[in-house]
Order: sequence, then C-alpha cells, then structure tokens
Amino acid sequence: FKIKMDEFELYEELGKGNYGTVQKVLHKPTGVTMALKEIRLELDDSKLKTIITELDILHRATSPYIVDFYGAFFIESCVYYCMEFMDAGSLDFFAGCDLPEDVLARITGSMVEGLKFLKDELKIMHRDVKPTNVLLNSKGQVKLCDFGVSGQLDRSLAKTNIGCQSYMAPERIKGESQGAPTSYTASSDVWSLGLSVIEAACGHYPYPPETYSNVFAQLTAIVHGDPPTLPDNYSATAQDFVQQCLRKQAHTRPTYKDLLAHPFLLDNATKDIDMVGWIARATEYRKTHPKMNVPALA
Ligand code: ADP
Repeated sequence: FKIKMDEFELYEELGKGNYGTVQKVLHKPTGVTMALKEIRLELDDSKLKTIITELDILHRATSPYIVDFYGAFFIESCVYYCMEFMDAGSLDFFAGCDLPEDVLARITGSMVEGLKFLKDELKIMHRDVKPTNVLLNSKGQVKLCDFGVSGQLDRSLAKTNIGCQSYMAPERIKGESQGAPTSYTASSDVWSLGLSVIEAACGHYPYPPETYSNVFAQLTAIVHGDPPTLPDNYSATAQDFVQQCLRKQAHTRPTYKDLLAHPFLLDNATKDIDMVGWIARATEYRKTHPKMNVPALA
C-alpha cells in the first residue's frame, strides 16, 4: 500500500539528525505508530524518484534485526521515510548504563545478525554503523537502521562530515582523504561495530574529543594509533572479540560468520537473557542520570 502525508497524525519529535528530524506519528488508516524521518535534499525530481525506487527494495528486507520499512515518498525537496517505531530509543542513550556482559553480547549479536542479513540478502554494506543507528524496543529487540540501501541517497548525503565522532575504519579515513571514498569493504563495518560495542560498554565515544586538540589529531589517532579496548571489567573472551573487530588491517578482521562463531556470541541466541528487564531498568536509570553531551571538536 502507498503511504501519504495526510494520513499521519503527528506526535512528538524523537530526534534530530544531520539532515532533518524524526517524528513519532500515527498512521491513521492502519492504526500503526511509526517513526517518520524527514531528509532534506536539494535534488531534482528525477533523482528523488530514483531514491524512492531504490528504497523500495526494503520491502523485501524483513529481519528481526533490521528496523521494518513501511514506505517512502517525497514532497518538494524532502524525502520522507516511514519505519517501525522503536520505543526504547537508540543505543547511545543506554551507553554507560550498567551493561552486564550477557546484555552486551545480545546487543552485539543482534548487530552482527543485522549486518550479515544486509550483506547476504540485500548485498549491501551498512556504511554507517554507530550507536545512534542501533535501536531498541521494550520487547527487548535490538535492530539496525539507516543503512546505505540507496546509492543515490548515499551520494546525495555524501558531502558530509567526517564528523567529530568518526566511526569510520582507518582504511576509509585514508581513502577519503586521498579522494577515493569507495575503497572499502564490509570489513569496514566490522571496525565500526567494534567501536560501537566499546562505546556502549564504557559510555563514551572511544576517541574522546577532549583528548585531542583538533579533528585532524583525532583522525590521525584512529589511522595510526593503537585501537581502543573494552574496559577490563569484561571477560577476556569479550575483550578478544572487540580486539578482532578493531584490527587495523581490514583484510584480517573476521567475517560475520566468524564473529557469530566466536565464544563471545556462540550460545547467545539460545541463552535466556532478560533484555526486557534490563531495558526497563536502564530507561529508569537514565531518568535520574541523564546523558551528558560531549562538547564537539572545532
Ligand atoms: P542520526 O543522523 O544521528 O543517525 P537520525 O536522524 O537517524 O539521526 O535519528 C535521530 C534520533 O531519532 C535517533 O538517535 C533516535 O533516537 C531517534 N530515532 C530514529 N529512528 C527511530 C525509530 N525508528 N524509532 C524511534 N526513535 C528513532
């Protein structure tokens, strides 16, 4: 079915990204609560149509580890993207809440499953793995969103920022600085996964801006420095998993199949982990311990 703007009742704003806002909305004809993402693009109609067509392949993308896609349309120069509403918000919100190892493993395992699904079923890389693109809900599910499914959309957004919190792998940073932004593969997503897992566990981006005098120094540390590690209150098994994801040489990083077979994740899917309880407690904790915003680098 086709979704139209006038079928929505708007609730509150859920967040702001680089290109627009995400709203919680009610789709009145179906009674489904959705998240509506607005992406502002200065493009002509034919390019906007290409984006909508490319996004259409998402109708085939059903996985418990990927946020459901309901449809997309454009009005003037904005693309509107309708997706499943995830009522617990994104992983960055929970970063730094007490994260027991089994919960961290379940979150990590879900991310690996999501990435593997995108690669095997849709033949795409994610390209933007980071805690704000990992969403949770009160049923205890963990799903990925914002992946690079539309080439035209990616190219239109590409102008941006190697921001002050770069989750890009060293080879990608090197490639972009040499003007070859496509010289990377799925293993670059594995790097970003490793950084996101550390951030979830220790509560802040692993190359903290306050440690570097400018963005260049920070990117130099990513490319030439030793990779960060998981805090040592996690097991040697968990440490090893993250260390493998953060190997500097892209071709030596494990594949998704390797990662799922790693002892950190091996019995994860069958283990009884109280994700529902943990998400409820962590949400309560955040009410009294709000997340601080880290000042950005100039
Ligand atoms: P970014 O560009 O930083 O990834 P987005 O524009 O994608 O930001 O999203 C901004 C915020 O909106 C996210 O951090 C998240 O908290 C919220 N959000 C995005 N999508 C959803 C969704 N499907 N359900 C609930 N909240 C969402």
